[in-house]
Amino acid sequence: MAPPGPPLWLLAELTYRCPLHCAFCSNPVDYARHDAELDTAQWRDVFTQARALGAVQLGLSGGEPLLRKDLETLVGHAHGLGFYTNLITSGIGLTDARLAALRVAGLDHIQLSFQDSTRELNDFLSSTRTFDLKQRVARLIKAHGYPMVMNCVLHRHNLPHVGAIIEMALEMGAEYLELANTQYYGWAWENRQALMPTHEQLREAEAVVNAYRARIGNRCKILFVVPDYFEQRPKKCMNGWGTTFLGVAPDGVALPCHAARMLPGLDLPNVTTRSLREIWRDSDAFQRFRGTHWLPQPCRSCDSQAQDHGGCRCQAFLLTGDAAAMDPVCDRSGEHGKVMEIVLQGRLAEAQARTREHGMVFRSDGNSLRLSSEAGCAGRKSAK
Ligand code: SF4
Ligand code: SF4
Repeated sequence: MAPPGPPLWLLAELTYRCPLHCAFCSNPVDYARHDAELDTAQWRDVFTQARALGAVQLGLSGGEPLLRKDLETLVGHAHGLGFYTNLITSGIGLTDARLAALRVAGLDHIQLSFQDSTRELNDFLSSTRTFDLKQRVARLIKAHGYPMVMNCVLHRHNLPHVGAIIEMALEMGAEYLELANTQYYGWAWENRQALMPTHEQLREAEAVVNAYRARIGNRCKILFVVPDYFEQRPKKCMNGWGTTFLGVAPDGVALPCHAARMLPGLDLPNVTTRSLREIWRDSDAFQRFRGTHWLPQPCRSCDSQAQDHGGCRCQAFLLTGDAAAMDPVCDRSGEHGKVMEIVLQGRLAEAQARTREHGMVFRSDGNSLRLSSEAGCAGRKSAK
């Protein structure tokens, strides 16, 4: 196999600590069992190595990256290396003083998350009272002259609010709005019945988005992606496993996809014991699903294999118990019925008008420890 190109996008998950408890958090369900964090010198070294490999874009994420007191130091180092730096934050802890310091350090871009356009739902979904604070932080970000992406994870509770969410983004002066339909990994997988939308909700929300796009043009660019479960063909996982994305978890575990930590049998390398070059080019974890040589049938004989590489490995594992299976989102998969069944169960839950409060498991240290011990193997649990 030809050597891979550079990992253009480095995602540094600086910490799993977070003051919020989102019911759809993409952090691993067993995050509370991984509380070690790289120190400042180790992160600086990771950034230096990644830049030498050709990485150009750096996402600083978590958990909540503002909980790291050395965030400004890390941003300054990354900026000095020539990275385009993006802070991905809930906004909690983003004060006027920290924004000024991040400006001096050279931070390029901020992505601020909201859970909804209403205080009630925003605060319910994050299990905190943070809506008003986030509004103040959005104003501060703009006052400091930053381009801002507003991010809102969508599911059946807030899809009917899409118009109001767009209005909120316009009012705040966001240049981009990412309406990120829930992908069902991590905590969202635990809550899939409570979060799964209906086809009608998705169609209506998409129509609202298209009407706004036609009306507001480039004033705010809106990204809206239909969730995998409502497609007939899977997406190319991470633009192709080991082609573009390199994630590093708080404890130094290197990840070909931010959810890959749950995959059994994948010996994930750690930046504290191996060089980033070796990890990216030669490690089994990054080689395992790189390219198409490993594809099972019918993907191996399918015309679409170059477009989707057989879909998402984590989705395949969660739905079939086998990370090397074809993604059951594909309607050529013998397991596609499992996707349809989950969508149907979501519809039934909606029809039975279960209240939001019932059936949601919020991200917390206690729930993380409980769920991962129930799973019996560090949070690795599939539907099989
Ligand atoms: S999704 Fe919510 S709980 Fe998870 S890291 Fe982001 S803000 Fe924190
Ligand atoms: S059969 Fe495999 S390669 Fe073909 S469309 Fe489905 S997932 Fe993609």
